[in-house]
Amino acid sequence: MTLADRIQTEIAARRADLIALTQDLIRIPTLNPPGQHYRDICDYLAARLTGRGFQTELIRAHGSPGDSDAYPRWNLVARHQGALPGDCVHFNSHHDVVEVGHGWTRDPFGAALDETTPGGRIYGRGACDMKGGLAASVIAAEAFIAACPDYRGAIEISATADEESGGYGGVAYLAGQGRFAPDRVQHVIIPEPLHKDQICLGHRGVWWAEVETHGRIAHGSMPFLGDSAIRHMGAVLAEIEATLYPLLAGKTTAMPVIPEGARQSTLNINAIHGGEPDRAPGSTALPVPCVADRCRIVLDRRFLIEEDVAEVKREVTALLARVKARRPSFSYEIRDLFEVQPTMTDRDAPIVRSTAAAIEAVLGREARYVVSPGTYDQKHIDRIGRLKNCIAYGPGELALAHQPDEWVGVQDMADSARVMALVLAELLAPGPVDNAAPFSFG
Ligand SMILES: [Zn+2]
Repeated sequence: MTLADRIQTEIAARRADLIALTQDLIRIPTLNPPGQHYRDICDYLAARLTGRGFQTELIRAHGSPGDSDAYPRWNLVARHQGALPGDCVHFNSHHDVVEVGHGWTRDPFGAALDETTPGGRIYGRGACDMKGGLAASVIAAEAFIAACPDYRGAIEISATADEESGGYGGVAYLAGQGRFAPDRVQHVIIPEPLHKDQICLGHRGVWWAEVETHGRIAHGSMPFLGDSAIRHMGAVLAEIEATLYPLLAGKTTAMPVIPEGARQSTLNINAIHGGEPDRAPGSTALPVPCVADRCRIVLDRRFLIEEDVAEVKREVTALLARVKARRPSFSYEIRDLFEVQPTMTDRDAPIVRSTAAAIEAVLGREARYVVSPGTYDQKHIDRIGRLKNCIAYGPGELALAHQPDEWVGVQDMADSARVMALVLAELLAPGPVDNAAPFSFG
């Protein structure tokens, strides 16, 4: 029996365990915001993995954004040491989930199993993003260790906080502590829901900025005595429509971003506020008549690996200069809010090649390579951890993330668990010949 056959047997034997583990994880409502039950989910995983020979550490991201005694930012890092020296393969999953929202027909934390659909589905908030992926990676590691107890190197599994709000209390904190240093970790898989036959190499860059126009307050019945910050912002928006959007539409990329609409530079205006504050919903109070002396927008610019962030910023400051040239009283401020560089792992990187071979072995088709339109925790592993050999690979449909009636397919989880276990075999199996046969079967 080859190692690949033993892995297949071990994964198949754990199907009920995979379902139960996924359900248990969904039933811990790790909502972010505010960041609740983080300790509970870390304790749950620590108990499971300690019982299977892992050394586990609970790490609180003291002082990270949102960390408080009421809502501490807890992370779990578990490590299983092989029999011989070798590389460390690390599976990183975020354990937080976004708010439930409206439109559910299932209990969002009930984790109901529906076996009437092909392959079976488990429903719940976080099922696909990304407790299904977390469960698949745990099963993959356990199955591999059972099939290949004399492996070389080490396997790490982390469950981390706050990915949905930037990852500062999670992967960024761990990376800052050297947890992804090259002498400790050599390969990283992030089991985000990118689909079982796709390898996500990285993501586009992001720059958020706030632009504020200034005016002068006056009575709304005599607007000529004031200077409307909202009209100035109107001129900014018109200039964005007339010049910036056409410019961005012409900037395309060699990055295989999905969906295809994101294969160019994009800009969203995330918010606009001017004049008196929003009235409370249902309020019967009438507005007061004032010329707005402040108006703000938040720009969400996503940029490509071919672009330079300094140039991305210059496009906007040049645009504001053009508006100013036409409007004598125009004055503004611009503030950087957030910035992440694009990242894309090389297709020849060891983790990419091993995963591609494993996908072909398990699914009988070639892996597809994609890039995410938005960022995820790979940014911290790349920028803070300085580790390039990192991908996102996991079960689930990205389109279901953050939606009502979110679900993950049981067969998809089992298939990607097998892929992940074969990646471990490729990178950590001791014998070069006998055990290098994992990909010889279909
Ligand atoms: Zn996610």
